Amino acid sequence: MDTTVAHPARRYNYWLGGKDHFAADRASGDAIEAAMPSIRTMALENRRFLGRAARLIASRGVRQFLDIGTGIPAPGNTHEVVQAVDPASKIVYVDNDPIVLSHARALLTSAPAGSVAYLDADLRNTRSILDHTDLKATIDLTEPVGLLLIAVLHFIRDDEDVTGIVRTLLDALPPGSYVAATHATWEYLPAEAVAKLTAANPDGRFQARDGADFARLFDGLELVDPGVASVAHWHAQDEPQPRPAVEDVACNGFVARVP
Ligand code: SAH
Repeated sequence: MDTTVAHPARRYNYWLGGKDHFAADRASGDAIEAAMPSIRTMALENRRFLGRAARLIASRGVRQFLDIGTGIPAPGNTHEVVQAVDPASKIVYVDNDPIVLSHARALLTSAPAGSVAYLDADLRNTRSILDHTDLKATIDLTEPVGLLLIAVLHFIRDDEDVTGIVRTLLDALPPGSYVAATHATWEYLPAEAVAKLTAANPDGRFQARDGADFARLFDGLELVDPGVASVAHWHAQDEPQPRPAVEDVACNGFVARVP
């Protein structure tokens, strides 16, 4: 594990107020915060969205979840949220960061009636996830699945075929499945902030996409109202009010059904 280079999972953990980060992660996180002072609010609002979206999908009867880009364990992990709806729910977590793998034990705490698996795999190697024996032992791809892609697609560049990756995942989901996704966007920000954020792009991996480009990746799905919206505002009536402004939470999210 290279601790001298900033990693997204550790930087996100730093913004959320966790303990699992190194100097390089903090330096990168601080540089981005200098360009976008509300970055911690954005991280927290993304995490809150994850909880609301997973709960909504579970409330529609889905009992199997595939959470790709899991992150370091934090309050409100997916299995905790959906097993609170039904303890028999099954969850497969996927991340490619060795630090997340090193924390996997904290995720493998299923309610006895359900089960949780963790795959150390890369979203860009999509088939290695879908064909993994541990995935197949945990969830049944002929029954509806809740696919979670929360704050991960902006680490896949267009030249890495983000469209094909999403298509491969969607093709594996039976009708009645659901997708929840979030994605950083600069569309709500003034040009000056966008220039600063572009300069702070830590490793050249990061690619923001506006709501229209984000939605296009999921063409053909049935969006749950209100469609693609800021994660701070999507189904947020029960969250602390007033809600943060969209320009302080430069991240869109949606839930959609697979027809
Ligand atoms: N989904 C969590 C964590 C988001 S942080 C949440 O929203 O709270 C983004 C996560 O995506 C990090 O843990 C990072 O390691 C992971 N990630 C980035 N690129 C990935 C890839 N190609 N394959 C798998 N995981 C990836």
